[in-house]
Amino acid sequence: MWTLDASAEVPLWRPADRDPEVVLAFSTRRGGVSAAPYDSLNLGRSTGDRAEDVTKNRRRLLHALALDHDRLATAGQMHGVRVVAVEAPGHTPACDALLTRRPGVPLAVSTADCMSLLFHATGTVAAAHAGWRGTADGIPRATLLALCAAAGVAPQRVTVHLGPCIRACCYEVGDDVARRFPAAAVRRAGAAWHLDLPHAARLQLLEAGLPPDSLHDSGACTACDASWYYSHRRDRGRTGRHWGIVALRA
Ligand SMILES: [Zn+2]
Repeated sequence: MWTLDASAEVPLWRPADRDPEVVLAFSTRRGGVSAAPYDSLNLGRSTGDRAEDVTKNRRRLLHALALDHDRLATAGQMHGVRVVAVEAPGHTPACDALLTRRPGVPLAVSTADCMSLLFHATGTVAAAHAGWRGTADGIPRATLLALCAAAGVAPQRVTVHLGPCIRACCYEVGDDVARRFPAAAVRRAGAAWHLDLPHAARLQLLEAGLPPDSLHDSGACTACDASWYYSHRRDRGRTGRHWGIVALRA
């Protein structure tokens, strides 16, 4: 259901079927103003990039989505499992997931290999940042359950969207990380393990009651494709950030 509109001024992953209630998107590295190694649509402030370029990029993305930059809500992203409900724009430091029932408040999580997971049930949206640690500790499940509680619905009424992230093809991990995951989410490759982080999230969400058809995955690997994506691992930390972004239409 996800398609990359590569020819747009700001190329974005968008749902093929647009829901009239919700705006959903995943950004790529293209379409912005930042210079190398942050070229070009870097949305992360916690990088070595120029702050004014990051702000220009954020405005450009939000404009392309017809969302208001001044209404934006962002999360501190500590690799934890805390989900915070927000009513107003602004930065919430100590959390990895945001949820809101307020139309016109875009929720954004930034990533450069980690997963961004976007959640929607009628009248409620959430966005979660999930690397291996947050996933092992249960943030996909925690966000699903928090959304269900806030919306007053069962997991059967929720849809979840998974953006570009590092995939099993590229994600080598050691024994200490591999043993935190179910066997179905890791595979041996010589002396190392390869972690399938999206599959780990999928297993966790299905176990919590999400129907298999309600998880929509972009399928893109950030580490495989340097022309489209930032990758913290491939670029050894000197790289930009994409966003997963979700909003109820104002
Ligand atoms: Zn890959």
